[in-house]
Amino acid sequence: MSDRVYADFNAGAPLRPEAREAMLRALDAQGNPSSVHAAGRRARALLETAREEVAESVGARPENVIFTSGATEALHLALEAAREAAGGIVLSAIEHDALTAQAANVYADVRTAPVTTDGAIDLDAFETLLDGVKHPLAAVMAANNETGAVQPVAQAAACVRERGGLLLVDAAQALGRIPVDVADFDASYLVLSSHKIGGPQGAGALVLAPGAPFTIARGGGGQERGRRPGTENVAAIAGFGAACRAAVEQQPSESVRLAALRDAFEAGVRGRFPDSTIFSESAPRLASTSLVAVSGLRAETALIALDLEGVCVSSGAACSSGKVRASRVLTAMGAAPERIQGALRFSFGWSSTERDVARCLDALDAAVARARPRTMERAV
Ligand code: PLP
Repeated sequence: MSDRVYADFNAGAPLRPEAREAMLRALDAQGNPSSVHAAGRRARALLETAREEVAESVGARPENVIFTSGATEALHLALEAAREAAGGIVLSAIEHDALTAQAANVYADVRTAPVTTDGAIDLDAFETLLDGVKHPLAAVMAANNETGAVQPVAQAAACVRERGGLLLVDAAQALGRIPVDVADFDASYLVLSSHKIGGPQGAGALVLAPGAPFTIARGGGGQERGRRPGTENVAAIAGFGAACRAAVEQQPSESVRLAALRDAFEAGVRGRFPDSTIFSESAPRLASTSLVAVSGLRAETALIALDLEGVCVSSGAACSSGKVRASRVLTAMGAAPERIQGALRFSFGWSSTERDVARCLDALDAAVARARPRTMERAV
């Protein structure tokens, strides 16, 4: 197992050593952070240290960080928090399902802005849609989980603010990969996920801009200033805080290192399979993400072949309950159906090496050889 290559960081990054250490320390702090005794105060201190680490990593105030169980819950919380102030929601066609599906449950008026063939939001169409909603809530993710395409968040924010609206930015894939700052994005709500940056699963945060509406009353023990009651998951949050600090500190150098790895990977793909497609290739993209389709290779079977070669990746298609459906993101980008069916996402991160990239390329070769045995024979 240890010789496996993990190239699925966008699904979940391996735990960083810094996060592991913080979690182990926190596991020994047994108190409930709401208790007044010494054990409780110790747990509270760990929680507040993590809050400061998360806040600092995105330029926010600690009191505006609300810990959640992950990005999904944070997105849902933001949708509800803005509901009273917003007349409807305008979201990009490439938002994560966690937002898209829930938006329809919370808002009667949901409008979807198209994206370009490169996977960036079409700002003209976005503006037109915003004009149709009084005090809109807009949702534009910072970077897409499938293609890695970085979205023009600050420009989108300007369009939203001109119209007196609120902006929700899902930065689950962006944190630690590009600079993420609440004020630079001019976001009203910013969403983060721990396990995408090498923290543990089951932690995340909704970060509020000062004065962002939050009109939900939830009964409970009053934790998180009453905004998300329930005893906090101290060890996971401590790991999340440590992961934030490490990911953001290392982001400038890691972006350079990972861009070199990704470029080597994509040069290898192009060299071996000249008929391949690299999605969002000419858009600003995360250095960590490469979504590729190779002619004749179906993602469903390729994933199994790659797994047999010891390489863990994802398909661009969403897969839940055993059903594989065409990627909504690639469909919105107007990609050809056979390319969508072949989309394989390789995503790299803090523990990725040049050797991993070479192994991914060799495994792709093997997958293609399995899928195209006749073609290979004829070519010989
Ligand atoms: N938003 C984006 C862009 C994601 O990639 C994901 C996870 O895949 C989520 C939200 C949901 O994150 P979590 O697993 O923390 O709920």
